[in-house]
Amino acid sequence: MNDISALVASTRATLERIAAEYSPAVFASSLAAEDMVLTDLILKANLPIGIFSLETGRLHPETLAVLAQVKDTYGYDIALYKPQPEAVDAYVSQHGLNAFYESVDMRRECCRIRKVEPLGRALAGSKAWVTGQRRAQSTTRAQLDIQEDDAAHGMVKFNPLADWSETDVWNYIRDNGVPYNALHDQGFPSIGCAPCTRAVEPGEDVRAGRWWWENPDSKECGLHLVDGKLIRIKSVAA
Ligand code: SF4
Repeated sequence: MNDISALVASTRATLERIAAEYSPAVFASSLAAEDMVLTDLILKANLPIGIFSLETGRLHPETLAVLAQVKDTYGYDIALYKPQPEAVDAYVSQHGLNAFYESVDMRRECCRIRKVEPLGRALAGSKAWVTGQRRAQSTTRAQLDIQEDDAAHGMVKFNPLADWSETDVWNYIRDNGVPYNALHDQGFPSIGCAPCTRAVEPGEDVRAGRWWWENPDSKECGLHLVDGKLIRIKSVAA
């Protein structure tokens, strides 16, 4: 079991170092539990790390409600980046609104339009970006480092919670009264777009409810790239 106070101290130190050495830096929040831990640490310390979220147009109402919770709790407006309407219209008219169920390629194209392209706009001009990814979340994240070179975006990527367990995250949230997505209390440990996220059974992998119809090794949205490729255990090990 991790020592939560030591974890919090080292995570604070990482965030302070990012703010001091990599300004301007931004934090990409998915509004999930991990991201609320980082939001709390950044905003309570008044660190100059801008927080944004990708509003894909397919999020649950509970996820969108977190934006108001953050505003109420911290007085902070999370910046929202949305997909280009013409790209969404072209995908939907050509393939259908939910074509992402049909193949991995169709799913990645939807993620590219709704997440990857807006992410590029959100990151433009920054020296570093921060994510709430943890090593224990899935097979695709088992090699995660706290600091990585993000060659695809030409900047440094920080995963300050890489060492945190699921229990650490929830201990921090409860100990500090951090607001969180109501879906976490309804069997959703990992939350993405509504049509691509389902509740999981007790004991299932925390990311089993994301793109559940796909092979586990395919389950990334293209936001986290290594040398322009999706992170997979085999490719990283090789
Ligand atoms: S998670 Fe699903 S709905 Fe959201 S962008 Fe990806 S494929 Fe599209």
